[in-house]
Amino acid sequence: MVKKDQIDYDVVIVGGGMVGGSLALALSRSELRVAVIEAKPFSEKQAEGAGKRAIALSWGSRCILQQLNLWGALIESAMPIEHIHVSDKGHFGKTRLSAKSQSVGALGYVVEAAQIEKIVSEELTTNHVENICPAKLIGYQRKHDGVELTTQVDDKEKRLRCRILVGADGGMSQVRSKGSFDLFEHAYGQHAITGLLRVESEAQDIAYERFTADGPIAMLPHFDNLYSLVWTMPSSLSEDVIKLSDEEFTARLQGKFGYWLGELKLVGNRQRFPLSLSHVKESASDRVVLIGNAAHQLHPVAGQGFNLGLRDAVALADVLMTSQEGVGEEGLLQKYNEQRKTDQALITGFTDNIVKLFSNDNAALSLLRNSGLLVLDKVPMFKKQFALQTMGLGTRLARLKVG
Ligand SMILES: Cc1cc2nc3c(=O)[nH]c(=O)nc-3n(C[C@H](O)[C@H](O)[C@H](O)COP(=O)(O)OP(=O)(O)OC[C@H]3O[C@@H](n4cnc5c(N)ncnc54)[C@H](O)[C@@H]3O)c2cc1C
Repeated sequence: MVKKDQIDYDVVIVGGGMVGGSLALALSRSELRVAVIEAKPFSEKQAEGAGKRAIALSWGSRCILQQLNLWGALIESAMPIEHIHVSDKGHFGKTRLSAKSQSVGALGYVVEAAQIEKIVSEELTTNHVENICPAKLIGYQRKHDGVELTTQVDDKEKRLRCRILVGADGGMSQVRSKGSFDLFEHAYGQHAITGLLRVESEAQDIAYERFTADGPIAMLPHFDNLYSLVWTMPSSLSEDVIKLSDEEFTARLQGKFGYWLGELKLVGNRQRFPLSLSHVKESASDRVVLIGNAAHQLHPVAGQGFNLGLRDAVALADVLMTSQEGVGEEGLLQKYNEQRKTDQALITGFTDNIVKLFSNDNAALSLLRNSGLLVLDKVPMFKKQFALQTMGLGTRLARLKVG
């Protein structure tokens, strides 16, 4: 049994990435003793290049980031999306969504992942959250009224005790693998290639989603005629495509994407990411809870992974901060689990269905998706529903009640 005076923290968050860091910031408004254990300093993450990927933030995420006082620092580098254009290469169906027709300021925003991580980690250093970095979780043991963690800090083993352990440690979560969580996993056999392109067209506020026989191509707008590419294709093909020269790569992309943005020119490094769907059956069990990619890792086709994770973070903060009996309350995490189930299942299913429907050259599916895009374009109710999902507004937003 962990005695009260032996408890170091009320909440320990493993993973100080975009989702774990956001949870820590939300909790920093409370009296709770909070620590974040993060394996990599921000400078090390920045050097990896993966942070260059563009994140399409939903309107809902903007509202959450505002509540966390992060939006002011992000707005300068956030490109608003006024329109979304969805089409299927070589077929008739297409649909367009606009912020005006949905009565919102923007359908979403595009920000570099590294920029969000930077602002989150800077903000963390100025709040009363203990940031233990670089440090790694090695293992943990659940006790009757707490969790004992073994961590590695500066090559030394250190033990910590907490009431609630949060796994925000990404797709390869150690908190998940060392606990008793049932994981559903499906590898799509696809990789995404990301890159930065300068485009000829001046139209800077349109995001494009173009479905091709190999997989979807997303083009997300940045300032100064720049667009971020997320190009999904079978893994075997991606091994060849990543090796092409810049000219060959751009010519191939232009052939698949077309001239919606005029001539394309590659200006940034390419990166390759394996794509899979994984999610836990229950995200909370006996004092341990998973959020963000640790709980659900999605295909980036609909740009929902971080948006969903951010909603996890705010909902969990809300449950932990408003409990009458404190974080030791029995069944507290079950409340969180119940609250988040619908949104998580909806977004996971929505993203998986899009991948299956649109990464396929089967004639019947092609007809179905093109009729679907036509119906979507003509029926305002369906269009609104689709827009709500892509904006991350399909379910009620959790609001921070303390602050
Ligand atoms: C190509 C691509 C495009 C994407 N586009 C979008 C988009 O447009 N919109 C969107 O919403 N989402 C998008 N996503 C998804 C989004 O990037 C993820 O959902 C998001 O990064 C998940 O954040 P996280 O904090 O849960 O996990 P991570 O970002 O993986 O952070 C986990 C953190 O935990 C730390 N860690 C790991 N193990 C340990 C350990 N044992 N001890 C201590 N620390 C540890 C890591 O160092 C890291 O900092 C995209 C993803 C990809 C690959």
